[in-house]
Amino acid sequence: MSIKDILLKKRSGDALTDAEIEFFVHGFTGNRIPDYQASALLMAIYFQGLNKKETIALTQSMITSGEVLDLSSIRGIKVDKHSTGGVGDKTTLVLAPLVAAAGVPVAKLSGRGLGHTGGTIDKLESFRGFHVELTKEEFLEQVKSIGIAVAAQSANLVPADKKLYALRDVTATVENKSLIAASIMSKKLASGADAIVLDVKCGDGAFMKNKKEATELARLLVDIGNSMGKKTMAVITDMEQPLGNAIGNALEVKEAIETLRGNGPKDLQDLCIAMGAQMLLLAKAAKNEGEAKKKLQRLLSNGKAFGKFKEFIVAQGGDVGQAEKTELLPQAHIQHIVTAPKSGFIKSIRAEGIGNAAMLLGAGRLQKGDAIDLSAGIVLHKKAGEKIKIGEKLAILYTNNESKLAEAEEKLLAAYSFSPAKPKNTPLILGKVI
Ligand code: URA
Repeated sequence: MSIKDILLKKRSGDALTDAEIEFFVHGFTGNRIPDYQASALLMAIYFQGLNKKETIALTQSMITSGEVLDLSSIRGIKVDKHSTGGVGDKTTLVLAPLVAAAGVPVAKLSGRGLGHTGGTIDKLESFRGFHVELTKEEFLEQVKSIGIAVAAQSANLVPADKKLYALRDVTATVENKSLIAASIMSKKLASGADAIVLDVKCGDGAFMKNKKEATELARLLVDIGNSMGKKTMAVITDMEQPLGNAIGNALEVKEAIETLRGNGPKDLQDLCIAMGAQMLLLAKAAKNEGEAKKKLQRLLSNGKAFGKFKEFIVAQGGDVGQAEKTELLPQAHIQHIVTAPKSGFIKSIRAEGIGNAAMLLGAGRLQKGDAIDLSAGIVLHKKAGEKIKIGEKLAILYTNNESKLAEAEEKLLAAYSFSPAKPKNTPLILGKVI
């Protein structure tokens, strides 16, 4: 078998065999296939596509490129969740303790933010002393003792994805459904859960810009999971505008805590209840959706979900005082109010533009390994569909870098559009794929 023959085959639009896909993935991960040939194959895949069988084989080869976590020593059905990425998406911070408080074990591996989207691991580092790196033994022990652990993915979990993603990022081959699906599902399946709930984002701030594309990606993700014996389902959700009001690490932690205390923004709370209900159903912790939602709502209002969150912060060495008094979380020195340039209704808030403005303020990184400012970000004071008067507060920018303020304000305002008439409401949950 040779990589040149594989390249020729995919360039002609023919399907690759499982053995050819494994030859490529393991050869590239083991440095036997150079970047230039891997780049050529990624571009051929981008244009010619992979069928479902090839996509499943790609996922399988990526999983076996590294270690697979064994969660079988933890009692109960372990359900993982994943979001395809968005702006202001802090659902894991709410969902993990909420579902754990309902008695479903949560053993979650998460990533860092890149580009205009955030990552759970960065957000958790807003707590002084919080350990994101846990050994396998510490991770499993913590889930057994308190029902929840959220840690950074180890370097040996799907090493093929780390190499392939870095190459896709610089060869304009990220936005291919098969490559995205194999990348996401290889990491989920290697993380060892029994069942998976996916949040496939759709709209301006997401990889999938419309419902048709998002549904196709969801179908592929669900079929991959089910084909490997893991019960998988997907919820398709709107990412035209950011989720909740806060964008930026410590600001999002604060909003997640407000949600865990039952006072969060409605869209964030609704999404957490909807996703959480699916997780409870897959874990067989509720008989139907109505019962699951009621159970979760109760855990938010009786303080048990927030209690579980604090237990989790303490277990991973974080300063729980910052959860009780969120003003102790990292605070930016500069808080700049942006006002509405005109009166009317807010027609839309382009999520990607807001994510880019937050990144300029210091909340995100352009390259892997860049330092970020945990206190930086944006809090939106008005969302799409709301009425506003000229000069009224639209958003607050938080930063420690004054030199970026004007450019960030310009980007933020460019992301808004206004209309004289009330715009049509877009539902948050657009569909479900099972
Ligand atoms: N998230 C991933 O983990 N991989 C992709 O390719 C896209 C989004």
